[in-house]
Amino acid sequence: MTDIADKDWSRSEGDSWDIVSSVGFTALGVAAARAVENRQTEPLVRDPYAEHFVRAAGEPNLIGLLDSPEPQAPNPGTTPRHIGLRSRFFDEFFVNATNSGCGQAVILAAGLDVRAHRLPWPEGTKVFELDQPQVLEFKDRVLAEHGAAPTSDRREIAVDLRDDWPAALLAAGFDPDVPTAWSAEGLIIYLPSAAQDLLFERVVALSAPGSQVAVEATRGRPDIAKWGAMQKKYADESHPMSKVDITSLFYDEERADVAEWFAARGWTVQGADALELAATYGVEIPELPEDVIEVVKQGNYVTAILPS
Ligand code: SAM
Repeated sequence: MTDIADKDWSRSEGDSWDIVSSVGFTALGVAAARAVENRQTEPLVRDPYAEHFVRAAGEPNLIGLLDSPEPQAPNPGTTPRHIGLRSRFFDEFFVNATNSGCGQAVILAAGLDVRAHRLPWPEGTKVFELDQPQVLEFKDRVLAEHGAAPTSDRREIAVDLRDDWPAALLAAGFDPDVPTAWSAEGLIIYLPSAAQDLLFERVVALSAPGSQVAVEATRGRPDIAKWGAMQKKYADESHPMSKVDITSLFYDEERADVAEWFAARGWTVQGADALELAATYGVEIPELPEDVIEVVKQGNYVTAILPS
């Protein structure tokens, strides 16, 4: 296995990946972060499969992270415990949305997210997971090895989100007349700006009144060059994610502000940055340098509701 420090992180049209390369590796990195969060005295997310995924993939840097007694954040450019905060945000979104009228859920770019197995879904809720084929194959193999049983009517859709995923979703039993809870967690930065627009246009076209969407986004254009500089400035070289070249992996393009985009289409929108989420969930964040706070405040966890 090529060491992540020597990997090519550059992107191209129609590119694909497995769980230890390119964007696939980020899904594994997020699973490692959830496994670490599991060890907190009061974890923001309890994910029983996260560690199994990391060990099964056999990627030595991430296994090292699990085995290090006190894993560090890759750099303070991401809020400490930010994957825990982010997971909690999307968990609460799905629980609230499906208890207030959304009869189905669509997880765009599900990666190694196991919400379909761990959330208390109302009886009969269909949960559609969309991601690239090799990512879902790996996930299924590990879940099967551990006898995992979903708590929902889980349906996987192996597809590229730049392709015609609505056709695949409809073929898998999605009902456009039923209000839907949609999520895009850790996704849009991996899409070109035009693909982001198309993704959300399709979400809107498939959304019955009462549908809801949650998106990890930024306020205005994400400043990738600055994020890269921060990654270098505060890097903990021992952390695997500090070896990922985010300036190549992310699409550095002018893109729509997600909150404004949904608001302009009549959805009722709310947003919060990670520090605001931490305050809501009662998580104490250590004091951060000014330049770090500036970057963290660019982040926007958006929820939008299409009025019934
Ligand atoms: N949402 C998951 C989570 O938070 O655990 C995974 C996040 S991971 C950072 C990014 C995910 O986006 C990967 O699983 C990757 O395969 C998926 N992804 C990115 N671009 C995609 C595309 N064009 N088609 C399908 N999946 C995509």
